[in-house]
Amino acid sequence: MGPPGAGKGTQAERLVKQFGMKHLSSGDIFRAEKSSGSELGEKLASYMDAGQLVPDDVVVEMMAKAITQVDGGLMLDGFPRTVAQAEALDKQLLEANSPLDAIVVMVAEDDIIVKRIAGRRTCPACKRGYHVTFMPPKTEGYCDDCEGVELTQRSDDCEATVRQRLEAYRAQTEPVIGYYRGCESLAIVDVDGNLDAALIAGEIIEALTALEA
Ligand code: AMP
Repeated sequence: MGPPGAGKGTQAERLVKQFGMKHLSSGDIFRAEKSSGSELGEKLASYMDAGQLVPDDVVVEMMAKAITQVDGGLMLDGFPRTVAQAEALDKQLLEANSPLDAIVVMVAEDDIIVKRIAGRRTCPACKRGYHVTFMPPKTEGYCDDCEGVELTQRSDDCEATVRQRLEAYRAQTEPVIGYYRGCESLAIVDVDGNLDAALIAGEIIEALTALEA
C-alpha cells in the first residue's frame, strides 16, 4: 500500500520474480477493461480519468472474481483502497481460509511523487514499467523486451489528476493502513519509498523472507 507514485508497481514486479507470486493490480485490471471499450470500461474511465476512486461495489465484485481465479501465492497491488474494500477482502479470504500474511506500506513525499509520475512510461505489450530519468529503456521511447513497441504514458498521469489521486489516497486509503495496523496476526512492513528502488526491494525481500522462515 502507498500513495500513487510511491513505487508499488516497480516493487511488485521485483517481488513477483523473487517469490513467484501472482501479481494482481486493480489499476491494471481496470485499465484492461477500460481499453476493451465495454460499458463497464466506460464507467470505470469516468472515475479513473478524474483521479477519483471507483465505487466500492464495482471494485469489490471485480477484484473478488480476479482473486478467485488465482491458485497459489498472491500479491495485491492497489487493492483494497477503502476500509469497506478491506472488510470485503477479509471476508472473502476468511471464507477461503487464506488470510493475508503481510502488508507492505510505502511512504513517499509529494514532490518526489509528482516527479516520478510525470516520467512514468509503460510498454503496452508486456506492461513493463519504465521512467524517463530513473529507469530509462535502452532506446528512448521503446520497450527493451518487445521489439519496435513504443512506450505509452497513462492518461491519468497528468499533474492535476495526480493531485486529485493524492487527495483520494489521504482521505480514503490511509485509514485502511490504520485498519490493518489493528490486526494482530498481520505483519506490517514499513518502507521508505523515497529511497532507491533496489534498496527498497532488498528491505522488503528481507522482511518477507524472515516471515516465511
Ligand atoms: P492505480 O493504477 O493503482 O494507480 O489505479 C488507477 C486508478 O484506478 C485509480 O486512480 C482509481 O481511479 C482506480 N482504482 C484502482 N484500484 C482501485 C481501488 N481499489 N478502488 C477504487 N478505485 C481504484
